[in-house]
Amino acid sequence: MDVFSDYMMTIGGQGVAGAAQFDVVNPATEQRIAKAPDCSREQLDEAVAAAKAAFPGWAATPMDERRNYILKLSQAMQDHAPDLIRLLTMEQGKPHPDAEQELMGAALLLQAQTTLELPELKAEDTDEHTVETHYVPIGVVGAIAPWNFPIVLAIFKIGPGLLAGNTMVVKPSPFTPLTTLKIGEIARDILPPGVLNIISGGDELGPWMTSHPGFDKISFTGSSQTGKRVMESASKTLKRVTLELGGNDAAIVLPDVDVEKVAEQLFWSAFGNNGQICIATKRMYIHKDIYEPLVAAIAAYGRTVQIGDGSQQGTQLGPINNRAQYERVLDLIADAKAKGYTFLLGGETAQTPGYFVPVTLIDNPPEDSRIVREEQFGPVLPLIRFDDIDDVIAKANDSDYGLAGSVWSADETKAVEIARRLATGTVFVNQIQYLSPFAPFGGHKQSGLGVEGGVDGLMEYTNPQTIVRAKASVG
Ligand code: NAD
Repeated sequence: MDVFSDYMMTIGGQGVAGAAQFDVVNPATEQRIAKAPDCSREQLDEAVAAAKAAFPGWAATPMDERRNYILKLSQAMQDHAPDLIRLLTMEQGKPHPDAEQELMGAALLLQAQTTLELPELKAEDTDEHTVETHYVPIGVVGAIAPWNFPIVLAIFKIGPGLLAGNTMVVKPSPFTPLTTLKIGEIARDILPPGVLNIISGGDELGPWMTSHPGFDKISFTGSSQTGKRVMESASKTLKRVTLELGGNDAAIVLPDVDVEKVAEQLFWSAFGNNGQICIATKRMYIHKDIYEPLVAAIAAYGRTVQIGDGSQQGTQLGPINNRAQYERVLDLIADAKAKGYTFLLGGETAQTPGYFVPVTLIDNPPEDSRIVREEQFGPVLPLIRFDDIDDVIAKANDSDYGLAGSVWSADETKAVEIARRLATGTVFVNQIQYLSPFAPFGGHKQSGLGVEGGVDGLMEYTNPQTIVRAKASVG
């Protein structure tokens, strides 16, 4: 397999060229790196039909055998890792070490997912009857992924979807289809035909999927705005949906932290993957007693960070992934400038090729400013001074989003108490984003519906079936 050419979809176990093609661009150079297949409506029908045909056999395959198939896929991803990692950097922009962490992390996530078990519940066992519930696969699942972590977020769906006995049609973002297409090619030699289909296409393909009557479930990761459209469209045939959506995560930093110790961690909590992480810190509330020294330490660290082409050694932050997101981030910067907010760092973009935005820190913008209210999804962070803990919790919770957040304090008990008052699906205490494969992850409010991860995430790929058995014989 040549990872760097011949990008084909995987439908029914076969490599399939697109009805048309579209360009995939390296965001560091703005040069085209490849043409990707553009799936037609008829090809989508074929993918759904292949998944439907494969479903009975796959659902009847014992779960332990399905585990082994998935483990083989994980191993094959690791075998091809060096090339896949380079390709991921080329299409996503993230620095090589980050691409390595994503690709290897995704392969290890697959392994971890195979250790999950579906529960068997006995609700009643009386003289008259037994009532038992077990969990059966749903059918054909459509998985739609975004561009910020194209591989790990697709694997978050593929592992549990397949393990639970569903067959799948997976669609990566049009900005980052290549590595996923190659994983589809790898899977052709491992999984039975039709079990895992990978398709790619433009803006119409997602809506075609969510409205397609052949899908029984849609698992979607992307923006809240798109998530609402997905749910609306899926409602027409009452497809099950899992929606992993946007966030506006607040970090709350208490005055007892060691400023020098936490500055670097706090920086990466916001700027990892260039701020293009759903659970990145997107507003940082810092207690007034340490505001000046901590802000100075974060800015000093930010000045040392190497920005450039992710394929170059030493690069710590790459470009924004795509032009639309780049322009969105520039628009937020322009708005902050027009309002006269103080920039502690960054704010100016160079006129060079590539969607590069410098690390940008904005000093204490008002609570109702766009940069505080909106999800920036880029390397621009508002730093906000607070002095009252109840007030800052209220501000953190005053958002339509409820994905995650973090609390930083030398007093762990106090930090956990505050964490429990945040209206979000996940809260990190004194650490930057860690998602356990064994715990449910999902958003409150408009950050999502349902969860991924752990047994709860696995169960989202099932329907409960209750068998009520009489003890008395009818024979
Ligand atoms: P997006 O919503 O624009 O696109 C996500 C995916 O949906 C892409 O594959 C896209 O092609 C497809 N899509 C677009 N319109 C569609 C439609 N009408 N119907 C069906 N599919 C459609 O999001 P993005 O810009 O790719 O990703 C960034 C967003 O994703 C951010 O808001 C981020 O917070 C969120 N995100 C959330 C999580 C999470 O787990 N909660 C993880 C990563 C990213």
